[in-house]
Amino acid sequence: MALPKAVYVHIPFCEQICHYCDFNKVYLKGQPIEEYVKACEKEMKEAVSQFPYDHIETVYIGGGTPSSLSSQQLEPLLDSINQVFSLQKPREYTFEINPGNISDEKLSLLKSAGVNRLSIGAQAFQEDLLKKIGRAHDEKDIYRTIESARRMGFENISIDLMFGLPGQSVANFIESIEKSLELEIPHFSAYSLKVEEKTVFHQLQRKGKLPLPPEDDEVAMYDVLINMLTEQNYHHYEISNFSKNGYESLHNLTYWNNEEYYGIGAGAHGYVSGQRYANVGPIKKYINNVHSQGRPLLESHVVSTAEKMEEEMFLGLRKLEGVSISQFQNRFNKDPFEIFGNNIKRLKSEGLLKVEDDRISLTKNGLFVANEVFEKFLL
Ligand code: SF4
Repeated sequence: MALPKAVYVHIPFCEQICHYCDFNKVYLKGQPIEEYVKACEKEMKEAVSQFPYDHIETVYIGGGTPSSLSSQQLEPLLDSINQVFSLQKPREYTFEINPGNISDEKLSLLKSAGVNRLSIGAQAFQEDLLKKIGRAHDEKDIYRTIESARRMGFENISIDLMFGLPGQSVANFIESIEKSLELEIPHFSAYSLKVEEKTVFHQLQRKGKLPLPPEDDEVAMYDVLINMLTEQNYHHYEISNFSKNGYESLHNLTYWNNEEYYGIGAGAHGYVSGQRYANVGPIKKYINNVHSQGRPLLESHVVSTAEKMEEEMFLGLRKLEGVSISQFQNRFNKDPFEIFGNNIKRLKSEGLLKVEDDRISLTKNGLFVANEVFEKFLL
């Protein structure tokens, strides 16, 4: 079995809680951040002693809002990641930032720790929309943050956009794409809003007070996104991700290629030595469990062959290049048509999947109903 080459570290603190967010996060103020950083270090050491690595190629510090940590809190975190995983110029080292809460001092710390990619949560460029979704930044913060990042030597930058937001029109979304394109950013991620339970939006929806755009508009937004970005020579390489050549997210490709990775931090998920696991979510519980048990597991299980085959299909189909038939055969000693033949045939006849040479992939129509396609690969 291949050893993990990727590490995800979760920083669950935010300066403001966005109205749509169901990630594992807490309001920053009053949290035991220094203790949390120490607990992450302990968990990393424990994970590595149980499941060694040979060479780490990608690191991703996500959240939450990692950039909400102060320089004093960030420095020991970056040091411990570097030491525990003996980082030597990883191919990709990403750090998530929210516009407006990153100083030159923090950017310089990131740079010297080897971070070479920034993922910026812009989401939208309209002040009223940003307020409506509960973001803490305004439009100018997006420009300032990108300008400082470039000045400090970061050129591999990704921005996140959202569509299907309450009160958002197709024209608003086109404006956000145009403004992003003007910034000449090499990578975009764009996600449609899903109203999740236990969010402000969920409560508003239950009261009938969430004016979501009509479904046709949401479809039009995704369509326009694909057209505008591909016209500008962005490579649409995953359902929600677009990049200039050579700027695809190597870390996220680990997930879509169904490869293993360490997941560190409260609520983080990982996949090592054939086992998928989830850590406990609440911060204090996470810290206590790390100290009492080493690994703060909520759940862990050995992934069965059937589960691995399902994952190979629905994770691989997220990529526009799709699933490699020969790789599936090498991994499982079976042909994907032997396992999923009827469904592949049906989805192909419905125009949602295509089979070309060594690849099974979504068609353009399939991209719009991807989750329904994926369900057909559950055994
Ligand atoms: S969307 Fe990001 S910044 Fe907003 S609450 Fe969620 S994790 Fe925090």
